[in-house]
Amino acid sequence: KLYNQVQDLKGNIRVYCRVRPFLGDQANYTSTVDQIEEGVITISAPSRHGKGHRSFNFNKVYGPRATQGEVFSDTRPLIRSVLDGYNVCIFAYGQTGSGKTYTMTGPRDLTEDTLGVNYRALSDLFLLAEQRRDTFQYDVSVQMIEIYNEQVRDLLTGLNVPDASLLHVTTPSDVIDLMNVGQRNRAVGATALNDRSSRSHSCLTVHVQGKDLTSGAVLRGCMHLVDLAGSERVDKSEVTGDRLKEAQHINKSLSALGDVIASLAQKNSHVPYRNSKLTQLLQDSLGGQAKTLMFVHISPELDAVGETISTLKFAERVA
Ligand code: ADP
Ligand code: MG
Repeated sequence: KLYNQVQDLKGNIRVYCRVRPFLGDQANYTSTVDQIEEGVITISAPSRHGKGHRSFNFNKVYGPRATQGEVFSDTRPLIRSVLDGYNVCIFAYGQTGSGKTYTMTGPRDLTEDTLGVNYRALSDLFLLAEQRRDTFQYDVSVQMIEIYNEQVRDLLTGLNVPDASLLHVTTPSDVIDLMNVGQRNRAVGATALNDRSSRSHSCLTVHVQGKDLTSGAVLRGCMHLVDLAGSERVDKSEVTGDRLKEAQHINKSLSALGDVIASLAQKNSHVPYRNSKLTQLLQDSLGGQAKTLMFVHISPELDAVGETISTLKFAERVA
């Protein structure tokens, strides 16, 4: 309870941590996650001095068995607030392979049960709008962009443009069709060896305009659903050229995002939005009355423990 009050004082920033299960035949592997209890996750990290333990606090922690439905149930209140005229940002953060795309979109072979936050958020939005149809008239449009090396690309048209196209939608299936177009455009330019999706940020934005049928007043809210680039640090001695440039851009934009959220959480008067394309684009939806949810993802494998600790430290700073 007290923790929730503290969160309210800090503004509208929530951080949820999710642990990916082991994949395939790794069933008997030992996880670096020692314990999960009431928003606290404990990692066992072997060090030169033997086995060390570190605990981190979040608003929620989901273990490897948490379902997509369970995860979404704690996200749902944010969707309602978009219809009430709030701006919302939902981020997926973590190293490549930790489950960001799984949380936001779902696995490659989607089923009803494995649909990610994006699909569930949109169908909820339409459902709630429908429930309010006697009092409000809602208008929904979407945008989908990718940020790669600080350049913005419109995923719905495939063009590099400053203002991404905004497409009007009336049903969840309209959105699913557009998301598929976006996914296809995202894959363009990627080769097997060059999986660009892990090194770019992708953002699905939903704009909602609601007209109060009695008073005529208009409310505007929007929601950004962001699948961030992989947070892993690359060894600067091992990469050069384009790969180094990409890594530097990712590093810069993720730390700019961390700086913005941390300074909002600390209620600093100066918030450094200008330091990256991502934070510039999201400026109106970060801070003020806007609500932010960061999903931080970790992989359970022992060889990922270094990235796991650095992911949790990043998240702890913004929580
Ligand atoms: P990222 O987007 O962070 O690179 P992915 O979402 O692609 O990671 O996840 C890597 C792999 O792990 C994928 O095959 C994905 O389907 C699987 N995976 C991730 N999270 C889960 C989960 N919670 N339950 C089952 N499989 C998962
Ligand atoms: Mg991904």
